[in-house]
Amino acid sequence: MNFSERNFQRYKSLVSSLLSALRVLYFHHLPGSEIAVYEGDILLRRGRRSAINCESCLWPKSQDGLVKVPVNISSDFCECMQMDNVKSWIADALQEISTLTCVQFVNRTTETDYVYVERGCWSYFGKIGGRQAVGLVKNGCMDKGAIQHEMNHALGFIHEQARSDRDRFVKIMWEHIVAGNFGKMNSKNLGLPYDYSSVMHYGAYDFSSTPGKATIVPVPDPSIPIGQREGLSNLDVAKINKLYKCNCCSSVLPKSKGSFSSVNYPFPYPNNSSCLWLIRIRQSKIFLQFEAFDLQPSSDCSSDYIKIYNGNSKNSPVLLDKYCGKGPLPSLVASGSTMLVEFASDESITLPGFVMSYTFSR
Ligand SMILES: [Zn+2]
Repeated sequence: MNFSERNFQRYKSLVSSLLSALRVLYFHHLPGSEIAVYEGDILLRRGRRSAINCESCLWPKSQDGLVKVPVNISSDFCECMQMDNVKSWIADALQEISTLTCVQFVNRTTETDYVYVERGCWSYFGKIGGRQAVGLVKNGCMDKGAIQHEMNHALGFIHEQARSDRDRFVKIMWEHIVAGNFGKMNSKNLGLPYDYSSVMHYGAYDFSSTPGKATIVPVPDPSIPIGQREGLSNLDVAKINKLYKCNCCSSVLPKSKGSFSSVNYPFPYPNNSSCLWLIRIRQSKIFLQFEAFDLQPSSDCSSDYIKIYNGNSKNSPVLLDKYCGKGPLPSLVASGSTMLVEFASDESITLPGFVMSYTFSR
């Protein structure tokens, strides 16, 4: 490690320690003596523990198969920053969850049970009934992944490193922990693997007492990155869909380049094999190419089709409207760092499908 890298590391861990201290300060201002803070940002009402292991802590599913979570945002945000900004950051982060899972965040009107977003950096576990606060704040708790992290607690998710099986994947460095609780929980792990890239995983230096000293070290490979807050990981999506028994086929493509295809390619895709792919990269623009394309043709592509959006939801502007048959193979550029690819297939006639590849474009 050279001098500037070392300085950068020192700076990074100093900032991380300061942020931890700030989070701790928030906890001292929590209202209500019956509320305890657990693991740094989780509010527990007395008697409540692992919500992921608690059916009654889940938000109810409506007859249409969607899980609606009403959200209201406090006007407190107006004092220090533009309300419009806050609303658009929150909407963008929640949109990703709504697009890829059956959990839909809706503006609260008269619903009794709802999430109330106020300033802070914490959340309750699962649905608690009535108005329940989720704390979000600029500078440290308003990144897309941080917003999703706090909302995931409200959906019933614990910290990834609190899973019952975490000792096989990380080592907790108790001697460097300044605050927070790094305990394990009797969690229901949904039959899905441990996820270092989850938005629910702490970063290596969170709550460190000493700059540069990690509190969590992945094992056996300590270089595995943890603590990303760029957005839901593929397993974060899978876990929401599993916990809420959603009938969704969706994935996130977070790498700066890659490719994906219809199921079974080059063999025919099954009937009713509709899926979504959200491409989300760090660089500015996504460049997408069709490598192969052969879908059931229909006059207005109403049977099987591909549709591509310039953004992270079906409400985003359309880049390529319903497209079917054999091509020609178009190239597309998104104006930003997210692109949503929708594949729909109906109950009859299937063909080999498609292969697409993407990279970034400056
Ligand atoms: Zn948390």
